[in-house]
Amino acid sequence: IVRVRNLVRRFTVKGVLNGLDLDIAPGEFIALLGRSGSGKSTLLRAIADLDHEATGSGDLFVPERISVVFQDSRLLPWRRLIDNVILGLRGSDARERGLKALAEVGLAGRETAWPHELSGGEQQRVALARSLVRDPELLLADEPFGALDALTRIKMHGLVKRLVSIHNPAVLLVTHDVDEAIALADRIIVLDQGVIVADLPNAHHDDDIEQLEHTAATRRLL
Ligand code: ATP
Ligand code: MG
Repeated sequence: IVRVRNLVRRFTVKGVLNGLDLDIAPGEFIALLGRSGSGKSTLLRAIADLDHEATGSGDLFVPERISVVFQDSRLLPWRRLIDNVILGLRGSDARERGLKALAEVGLAGRETAWPHELSGGEQQRVALARSLVRDPELLLADEPFGALDALTRIKMHGLVKRLVSIHNPAVLLVTHDVDEAIALADRIIVLDQGVIVADLPNAHHDDDIEQLEHTAATRRLL
């Protein structure tokens, strides 16, 4: 559902994406790793068509329904949770769908709360509800749990697995956390200087030794 060919993006003279190719299949969960400045956020913004300040070239084929989750929840502080979740949704069943989405992220009964009444982890849950209620074919997530403590992050992994099994979008998740990538992804991609330098299936379903070797191989690439 995503096809990227020879994607080039730059802000100054130096290229940030330097001829990148990427295919994403429906329902595939990809973790995108890479050093700071390697171009991860720029790639996500290009796919989401949020990169109008950049120049460049290349071919992009992307699905119609894309949702994006960032490191901060970007909830509107003057709207209650339910109204944040269903903002811009059409249809008489929007509210009902919003309530269902809040329940799916473990926030049933909190629909009339204000964003500031929630912890950072809870706000990210709302951001997930807001993105999934739109039934996206592709979910782009840019370090969505990067600001959370380790325990909350692990809880979010369980939640994400459950949500993805319900809604089944393709996911492109940027993370600096190799363990997060291994816990969640089907496929792990490493970006360096605007090109993909590694593209590996995640072996986490196989036995422990294979997983360890895989972890080591992934870490050497970072
Ligand atoms: P991080 O892990 O720190 O989030 P990243 O891999 O997401 O890094 P990008 O945000 O894609 O990196 O940035 C790649 C390069 O592009 C950096 O050198 C950055 O300074 C530059 N860049 C990104 N956005 C802009 C912009 N709007 N204007 C100018 N330069 C930009
Ligand atoms: Mg980034």
